[in-house]
Amino acid sequence: MNSSIKTKLKNTAGSKNFLDSEEDRLCYSYDATPIFRTLPEAVIFPENEFQISEILKLANEEKFNVVPRGAGTGLSGGAIPVENSVVLVMTRWNKILEVDTNNLTALVQPGVVTGDLQKEVEKFDLFYPPDPGSMNVCTIGGNVANNAGGLRGLKYGVTKNYVLGIEMILPDGELLKTGGKNMKDAAGYNLRDFIVGSEGTLGIITKILLKIIPRPSNFVTILAYFDKLSDSAKAVSEIIASHIVPCMMEFIDKTTVNCIEDFVHIGLPRHSEAILLIEVDGRGNIVYEDAETIKNILAKNNASAVKTAADADEALVLKTARRSAFSALARRRPTTILEDATVPRSELPVMIEKVTEAGQKFGVTFGNFGHAGDGNLHPTCLTDERDKQEIENAHRAFDFIFNEAIKLGGTITGEHGTGLAKKKFLEKVAGAPGIEMMKKIKLSIDPNNILNPGKIFSISPKCEEYAVKSTK
Ligand SMILES: Cc1cc2nc3c(=O)[nH]c(=O)nc-3n(C[C@H](O)[C@H](O)[C@H](O)COP(=O)(O)OP(=O)(O)OC[C@H]3O[C@@H](n4cnc5c(N)ncnc54)[C@H](O)[C@@H]3O)c2cc1C
Repeated sequence: MNSSIKTKLKNTAGSKNFLDSEEDRLCYSYDATPIFRTLPEAVIFPENEFQISEILKLANEEKFNVVPRGAGTGLSGGAIPVENSVVLVMTRWNKILEVDTNNLTALVQPGVVTGDLQKEVEKFDLFYPPDPGSMNVCTIGGNVANNAGGLRGLKYGVTKNYVLGIEMILPDGELLKTGGKNMKDAAGYNLRDFIVGSEGTLGIITKILLKIIPRPSNFVTILAYFDKLSDSAKAVSEIIASHIVPCMMEFIDKTTVNCIEDFVHIGLPRHSEAILLIEVDGRGNIVYEDAETIKNILAKNNASAVKTAADADEALVLKTARRSAFSALARRRPTTILEDATVPRSELPVMIEKVTEAGQKFGVTFGNFGHAGDGNLHPTCLTDERDKQEIENAHRAFDFIFNEAIKLGGTITGEHGTGLAKKKFLEKVAGAPGIEMMKKIKLSIDPNNILNPGKIFSISPKCEEYAVKSTK
C-alpha cells in the first residue's frame, strides 16, 4: 500500500485512530486461530459511520482490502488480515444504547462485550442467553458475524435467534438498516438472517437490536462422572429422547478434565473417562422434577457419581471451569487447534469414537469437549506448529474427523464459522450450487471483493493462492 493511500486513511480516521508501525500491525496479524497470520498494512479504529463509509469507498477506488475485527477471539480465521488489507477494529464501539423493558429488546454497538450485555440486562431481571466460552472478551458484533453459540444453545439457541435488527455499512459505503422491534415482519427478503453468520464479508455492522427474555428464576446444575466414554454419550441421547430440554449439556473427556483440573484445582475426578455438566432452568417445580429424571437417567447409564451443585456459587465455579476448557488445554502444548465438528445429536456417540480413532490413527493428541446436547464437539489437537510432520498429521486427523462428521449427516462448523480454516470443506456441506449462489450474492454486494476477501470461499484464484500462503 503506497504512502498516499495511508495518508488518505489517516486523514479520514484521524491520526490517533490509525496505526501502521510494525509492532502494531503484528498485534493485529492473527486471531485465536493457530497457524494463520498475515501482517495488515494498517490498523484503524473508526469513530463513526461516516469514517467507515469513506474508508470503504477509498478501498473500492484504490483496490485495497478491509477486514472487520471485534475482539479477535475467532477460531476459524475470520478476522485475520488478508493481502493488502487494513483492519477495522470495532472494539471501541462498546455502548449499550438502550434496554427496552417494554419490548424486551437491547440496542447495542457491535463492540459491546457479550458478558457485559448479560450483566446489564440482568439488572432488569432479564436474560441474554448466548454465552460463548469467550463471553468475557468477545464482542456482540463478532458473535453476530459468526452466529456464535455457547453452553446454553441446547435450550435457548444461538445468536441468530436473538438478532432482531442490524445496521451495517455496505462495501459501497451505503448504510443498510434491516429489521426492528416488530416481533413479526414478513416484508421482503429476510436480509437480517442472511447477514448473521456472514463473517464480515458483506458489510461492517454498526448497530444490533437484540431480543432479550425474562430471566429463569430456578435452576439445578448437575455433574456426572463416567468410567466409560460411551456411557456418557448414551446418557446424552437418552436425556434428549426423554423430552427434557436442559439449558446446558456439556461433555468433557478425560484429557480435558485433567487439563482443567491442572488449571483451576476444583477437585474434578482425574480418573473419569468423561464428565457431563448439565443444567436445567425455568420457573416453578418442573425444574426440580426434570433434574430428578435426569439424575435417574445418568445413574441408569452407569455414571460412577452424580453430584448437584449446592448453590449458585458452586454452579458458577463448575460452569467457569467448563468455559476454561480451551485455555486449560492450550497450556499443554505450544499450538492448540480447536475444531467444531457437529453431528445430529443421535450420532454423538459415534462421533466421539471417531475423534478417539483419529488421534490413534494419525498419532496426535486430542482433548475432546463440547456442547453435547447440540451434537457440537470441539476436538482439540494439542500440537506444536514448529514440528511440520506433527502439524501435517493433525491436519490429516481433522480431515478424517470432518469427513466422518459429514458422513454422519453433520457439518464442519456448528458455531465458529468457516473463515479461512474450513473453506476447503465447505463445498462438501454446501454443495457446488450452494457455493455458487454465495459467490453471486457476495459479488453483487461487493463487486470489487474488497471486504474480507478469501474468507468462507474464494472468488478468485489469487485468494486461493493467498490462503495457501498464509498457512505456511
Ligand atoms: C476461549 C475461547 C472460547 C470460545 N468459545 C466459543 C463458544 O463457546 N461458542 C462460539 O460460538 N465461539 C466460541 N469462541 C470463538 C469466538 O469467541 C466467537 O467466534 C466470537 O463470536 C468472536 O467474536 P470476536 O469479537 O472475537 O470477533 P472476531 O474474532 O474479531 O471476528 C470474528 C468474525 O466477525 C467479523 N466481525 C467482527 N466484528 C464485525 C463487525 N462489526 N462487522 C462485521 N463483521 C465483524 C470478523 O471479520 C470475523 O469474520 C471461543 C473462542 C475462544 C478463544
